[in-house]
Amino acid sequence: MKKVHNYSAGPCILPPEVLKQAAEAVVEFEGMGLSLLEISHRSKQFEAVMDESRHLVRELLHVPDNYSVVFLQGGATLGFTIAPYNFLPVGGKAAYVNTGTWATGALKEGIRMGNAVEIASSESSNFNHIPKGYSIPADADYLHLTSNNTIYGTQFKDFPASPVKVICDMSSDIFARQINVSDFAMIYAGAQKNMGPAGATLYIVNNDLLGKSGRNIPVYLDLVQHIKKDSMYNTPPVYSVYVSMLTLRWLKNLGGVPVMEKINEEKARTLYAEIDLNPLFKGHSVAEDRSTMNATFTLTDESLADEFDALWKSAGISGIKGHRSVGGYRASMYNALPLESVKVLVEVMRELALKKA
Ligand SMILES: *Cc1c(COP(=O)(O)O)cnc(C)c1O
Repeated sequence: MKKVHNYSAGPCILPPEVLKQAAEAVVEFEGMGLSLLEISHRSKQFEAVMDESRHLVRELLHVPDNYSVVFLQGGATLGFTIAPYNFLPVGGKAAYVNTGTWATGALKEGIRMGNAVEIASSESSNFNHIPKGYSIPADADYLHLTSNNTIYGTQFKDFPASPVKVICDMSSDIFARQINVSDFAMIYAGAQKNMGPAGATLYIVNNDLLGKSGRNIPVYLDLVQHIKKDSMYNTPPVYSVYVSMLTLRWLKNLGGVPVMEKINEEKARTLYAEIDLNPLFKGHSVAEDRSTMNATFTLTDESLADEFDALWKSAGISGIKGHRSVGGYRASMYNALPLESVKVLVEVMRELALKKA
């Protein structure tokens, strides 16, 4: 197979050994003479997959005992709706920090359900930083954050001290760095950024805080129902859960989240150093809030775009075109992207600078 340096923002790169095992399971799963795609989700073989997946999440993130781990369908987008249904009582209030497209999407769903207010936003500077110095209303039922802003390349380095429960969309940096789960009432994350293929969405939720919204919750959106049924209320996204399990095993074998965090920091340092040093490029986000997952940058002279594009394409780089709302380039350095791929990109950036010197 051709060597490609896959910088896709999502769905994104997965470890090659995970892809190989995932492919084998499609043909035959565990000597059953059947594909993983052909067996019942109630079979003992799949139940073992679901159990191990949930267990690995607990182990890798040190999830406290009073939290539940469930895998649902619907993407993180459904999480935008699940959050207020489960945590915003009728007549209650929710506070949102607006750090970009996905945070805006979450806020809009909150507004559909009740009094959801934007308490801080970085929209006026095209979301190039994480707002700071705002106050969190103590009468809010929860604060909603988006830990990593996939499109703009910003990331909360520290989460604000909150007087109220915190719900966080961690779709694009879950398992990339150490977190303290007990700081959050709920964490949710679509699989396809750092965990596995699209289809599954992970919810990590504090049981003690559930069942208090007083709402008549449609059954699929009611986390209590999913927890009661051990994430098997209905057919789960079996393949996405299985491949996520393989990725989490890979991560565990590598040494877990602390080791991954160090690798991610090194990748980010390597690329941002070049963005800062190379006169042909400039970063989109302010240095202190730069994401270790998604680095956004532009050419200082747009007329060099064709030449740069030809260079990175011929180096086997894929998926670094920026999102239309920022333009330029976005290099997504999720867990499975090796440092070697970052070095190739840096080389290409240097090559362009040398040609223009
Ligand atoms: C990709 C992304 C989403 C949307 O996820 P879907 O699974 O497509 O609904 C939401 N939030 C963040 C932070 C994302 O990166």
